[in-house]
Amino acid sequence: MDHKHDQTPPPWRLFPFAGTAFKNLFSKPATTGYPFEPAHYPDRMRGHVRVRIEDCIGCGLCARSCPPGALQVDRAAGSWTIHRFDCVQCGNCVNVCPKKCLDMMPGYTAPGPVKAVETFTRAPKEPPKTPPKPEDAKT
Ligand code: SF4
Ligand code: SF4
Repeated sequence: MDHKHDQTPPPWRLFPFAGTAFKNLFSKPATTGYPFEPAHYPDRMRGHVRVRIEDCIGCGLCARSCPPGALQVDRAAGSWTIHRFDCVQCGNCVNVCPKKCLDMMPGYTAPGPVKAVETFTRAPKEPPKTPPKPEDAKT
């Protein structure tokens, strides 16, 4: 047999991934157990927009600066609406809000059969309390 032209690779080259496979048997998995365990989000992740509606003044700057038009603000009704699946997490609304009542929070909107729309409405302000008049106290 002419060994010069023998193309058979040496035995250790027949299983090139054997070393990697063997190493992986004894190392931690590179993947996470989600959805069977909670997802871990990095600290500065831009997952979804949160509004602290009680601080919103209804100026509408956020809605006007939203590239995909995912926000609606109704000043008269005191409501702030976000179309979650239209939001591209650019953070413009957070940057322009004069009241700093918007944040980008970790965590994505859960998937679902319909496009998620959320509306937050400010509680109506209570009228200022006036001290009782003396004549009211007599009755
Ligand atoms: S993060 Fe960007 S896309 Fe999402 S609501 Fe704010 S401005 Fe619109
Ligand atoms: S920019 Fe801020 S204060 Fe103005 S409507 Fe949007 S959330 Fe409210």
